[in-house]
This record gives sequence, C-alpha cells and structure tokens, in this order.
Amino acid sequence: MHIAIARVKSTYQQYSQILSCSHCTLLSDHMMLAAVVISKLVSILEEIFHVYVRRRTPRGDLNHQSDYWSLSVGEYMVDSEIEWAAVMKVLIVILLKRTLDTLGCLKRIAKANLREAQFSMLRAAEQKAERISLDLQSGDVGGSRT
Ligand SMILES: [Zn+2]
Repeated sequence: MHIAIARVKSTYQQYSQILSCSHCTLLSDHMMLAAVVISKLVSILEEIFHVYVRRRTPRGDLNHQSDYWSLSVGEYMVDSEIEWAAVMKVLIVILLKRTLDTLGCLKRIAKANLREAQFSMLRAAEQKAERISLDLQSGDVGGSRT
C-alpha cells in the first residue's frame, strides 16, 4: 500500500510535466492517454482508501500484522495504528487534491483534443475522487459503498 501511494504520486509528477508541455498538450493521443491514466489512478486511490479503512479499524491485535504499519517520516518511526492512520489520511487527502487539480487542468487544456466519451470518463473520475474525499472527511467509512 505504501508503494502504491508512492507510485500514484510519481505518476502525477510525470503528468504535471506533460500537462505543462505545450507540445504534448497539442497531441490528442497524449491527452487521450492522460485521461485514461488519470482515471485509472483514481481507481487505484479508491482501492488504497478501502485498504486504509479496513486497516485503521481497531482490532487490538496489531502485532501479527506489524509490517502494515511500518512507515517513517525522516527519523520519526510511525509505530502505532493511530499514527499510521493519521499519516495515511493526510497522504490520501493530498493525493485526492492533486487528482482534482490534475483533472481540472486536463479538462481545461485538452478541451479540443478529447471526445465526449473521454470527458464523461474524466467527470466520473472527478465524482469518484470527490466521494472518497467526502467519506474521508466525514469519517463515514462503513462498508455501505458499492
Ligand atoms: Zn512534451
């Protein structure tokens, strides 16, 4: 999960370069691929969110799952469930914000290069990201989502 979160971030870094390149943004193939990749990233974030929700549920028996929680911020070792949940929540919030920024940017830049189907895909990805964001903020993390 920690690796997945790092990969999502580095993919966004690559795409922010592509989206700020005046050559790439003129190529409709590039923009169509960007739409597909970013929609996929939102699905990966949704999976990360579900894993986060499952793991942060207190079970009182963390020891046998200790590598789930192994994470450090510089010298600071994250070694309890409460710390892990807080750090992961912040990382997911940051990636969701990045998602919405990138989707907004892509929609603006690629207006001429995207077909209606791709716009629908981006809107669906945006709604999904907004829903995860709301669930995360509200603490409503029951299993009622589909
Ligand atoms: Zn380029």
